[in-house]
Order: sequence, then C-alpha cells, then structure tokens
Amino acid sequence: MIKLKNSLQLTKMQDSCKLTIEALLEGAQAIRPGVTTEEIDRRIRHYIEKYGATPSFLNYGGFPKSSCISVNEVVIHGIPGNRILKEGDIVSLDVGAHLRGYHGDCARTFPVGKITESAARLIEVTKQCFYDGIATIHPQSRIGDISAAVQHTAESNGFSVVREYVGHGVGENLHEEPDVPNYGFAGHGPRLYPGMTIAVEPMIVAGKRQIRQLEDGWTVVTCDGSLAAHYENTVAVTGDGVKILTEV
Ligand code: MG
Repeated sequence: MIKLKNSLQLTKMQDSCKLTIEALLEGAQAIRPGVTTEEIDRRIRHYIEKYGATPSFLNYGGFPKSSCISVNEVVIHGIPGNRILKEGDIVSLDVGAHLRGYHGDCARTFPVGKITESAARLIEVTKQCFYDGIATIHPQSRIGDISAAVQHTAESNGFSVVREYVGHGVGENLHEEPDVPNYGFAGHGPRLYPGMTIAVEPMIVAGKRQIRQLEDGWTVVTCDGSLAAHYENTVAVTGDGVKILTEV
C-alpha cells in the first residue's frame, strides 16, 4: 500500500530529511586522503544523535554502522571500517535519519582530492539522472516516467544503470511502496499523487551494469571493477510538481 502524508506528516518528514542531509554533509567535511571510512561514519552518527534522532541504517537488517560508505567500484552498502581514502578515489555517502517517527534518506558521491575527468563526469551525470528523473513528476504522472528519464540520461552518456537495487517510498518506514526503478518505460507503473514521499536514487556505473555482493553480505560491487556513483534525495509529490526534502 502506498501511504500518502498529510501536511502535518509532511512537516515531520521535512524535519527528518533536513537532519539527514545535514548529517551527510557533516560526514562529507571529513573526506580527504588518509581518512578512514569509519571516521566519516562516526561523524555522521554523532551528528544524528546530537539532534535526538536515530541513524536509520544502524542495525537495519543487521547492518552494523550508521551510514553506507562506498568507495570506487563499490556501488552501495559499503560498510564503514578501516579502509583509508586515497587521492583520486570517489566515495558515496548514503545516510538515513529517523526523527519523531519519520525517516529521511539521501546519498551523494564525492571526489577525494583530485580525480580523473571520467570519474568527475560519472558523478555529474548521476546527479543529472536524478534531476531528469524528478523533472517528470507531477500529479498523475507515473513511476515509469522517472525510471525512463534516469535510464535515458545514464545510457545516452555511455553509462549503465544498476537494476537490482531501486528507489523506494519512504516515511514511517525506511523502505515503503512503491519501488522506484532507475530503468523502465514512461507511462508504466503506479501513478503519483500529492502526499507521496519517495527516495529517487540513481545508481550509475561507468562500465557494465552487472554487480555482485561480497562475502560480508552487504557490500555491492561492479563485476568489472568499474566506478560507481549514487545520488539520492527524498522527495515529496506536491499539488503542482515535486519538492526535494533532503536539501539544505
Ligand atoms: Mg534509499
């Protein structure tokens, strides 16, 4: 069932979403060559807890940390630990925060020091995929309109779309209906209505789209070792379009 939020619930979503992006940006402050992903995660957790919220990912399905930190060929669900960032890496931070009954969810990919032009282009196109996806949103539009727009932008730039993981409804639960795939056909899928809150999150890879999970049961990497980028915001469908909630 797709849950619509009333204006009071949307206000609460706005609060949790604002805290979520603030925590992500706080973590991003720590990104530099020589830092461990664990250190970034610690900053994110501290920020979330300072405001009386809970990291949505901590213990979610047994996930051991407060954020997902995914370096280079890691697409999503990287577990923060003793990996040390180095010049030229790209690193994705994915953060969720649960505040007064509602979750926010967002992700960004950042450069570590100076990166290659092709890595920078992957990050830029992934962000563009998100914006092209949400540009289709209006009352009565369909999930497939978002999916098709994301896929078109990624593939017309020579990149591939990860299919096994998708965006999702978000609200009282971190993952709610509907699924929001990053590939598909315009005019298909559930209709969008004002009051829906969804996480739109292109996961785009530079090489082939095939992925695999490492033996830790979480970390998802590209099979061909190519770079991956992630850009996610929680958005609300409004009476005349869309509003990004995980924005400062
Ligand atoms: Mg998400």
